[in-house]
Amino acid sequence: MTVPIAKLSFWGVRGSTPTVDPATWRYGGNTPCLELIAPDGTQFILDCGTGLRMLGSRWAAPNGGKAPETHILVTHYHWDHIQGIPFFSPLYVENNEFHFYSFRSKFLGRDSLKQVFEAQMALPYFPVDMSAMSAKRKFKEVDGGDSFKVGENKVTARWLNHPQGCLGFRIETPAGTVAYATDNEPGDAKLDENLRELAAGADIFINDAQFTPEQLETTRKGWGHSSWLEGTKVARQMEAKTLVLFHHDPDSTDRMVDSILRQAREEFDSVFAASEGMVITLGAPGDKVQAHMPGTRTALRREAQFHAKVCGVTEGGKDFEEETMVRDVSLQGALISLKHLPRLQSELQVTMEAPGADGVQAMNLRGYVVRIDTGTEKGHVAVGVVFTD
Ligand SMILES: [Zn+2]
Ligand SMILES: [Zn+2]
Repeated sequence: MTVPIAKLSFWGVRGSTPTVDPATWRYGGNTPCLELIAPDGTQFILDCGTGLRMLGSRWAAPNGGKAPETHILVTHYHWDHIQGIPFFSPLYVENNEFHFYSFRSKFLGRDSLKQVFEAQMALPYFPVDMSAMSAKRKFKEVDGGDSFKVGENKVTARWLNHPQGCLGFRIETPAGTVAYATDNEPGDAKLDENLRELAAGADIFINDAQFTPEQLETTRKGWGHSSWLEGTKVARQMEAKTLVLFHHDPDSTDRMVDSILRQAREEFDSVFAASEGMVITLGAPGDKVQAHMPGTRTALRREAQFHAKVCGVTEGGKDFEEETMVRDVSLQGALISLKHLPRLQSELQVTMEAPGADGVQAMNLRGYVVRIDTGTEKGHVAVGVVFTD
């Protein structure tokens, strides 16, 4: 018997506007776009931010070239959730077919999402018009409260608290449940209840964590977003298994997101900060969570031989210290072989012995665990770190 597995990929995790600032490079600068492949092969895309272009450029039709059935759920019409549409290359391929789902906006009326397509490609905003998009597109209106089946998966939509409206989606697959609740401000009793319904018992609860709790109380009240603290409260109350902090503020540097994640982990056990390129597998034995960085980010690797001492925290939350060799190093990070299993997205202190003009010198680096693979050495794991200073 095969185990049903679902794969959730993060193509864009930044809120409001894309960032190309190097200080935001590690978590990524593309705006919201997620992809969920259900065990039955159904492909869901959640939101069409600039991350959608990346998804399109790596578009692979499985099953010997047969285009997959793709269902695209759009939460709302703010720029950061639709801006990737004209740049999604599979829309320009005739054999592809897409099913779009979104709500009827009172500002747009009937066929709201269809109108968004037309407006985005209208003169003088885009070089070609809609007729260049040859893929089949079907549009379905959904309302908060609706539930429907796609393949063997159940999709539920609920209204969230956001200027001009926003839908949260819950997708139940045989491998597990993903709740996607971005662009939501706490404080409206009825809509807060909707959020709790989406999150109830979810394996993965993706929540808006744009602001700090202090910002949410003061300067950013009424902007339609939430904080890591609210996410941990709902996750704990509704017994979600893993919380993913999402929709990072464009002004939040990687260091700031690191700090937000650290604080959230003090409040709730299983938390990740959404990171571009991160993949979460559901339904595998032990509900394994894997994250990886796109190849281009680690392309400057060089083989090396450095003695190193590594201090960090294990998956079980224990401090460890270990001596090892660093055999693969780049300007941004290193691949380190360890007997301990460090926690994904935790900090490691790496002290390497580097030959210098005055003999061997200790080089202290702070690294961040972005990837864990089975090691080539027996009893070891290969740990990918990105250096943060
Ligand atoms: Zn947004
Ligand atoms: Zn929004």
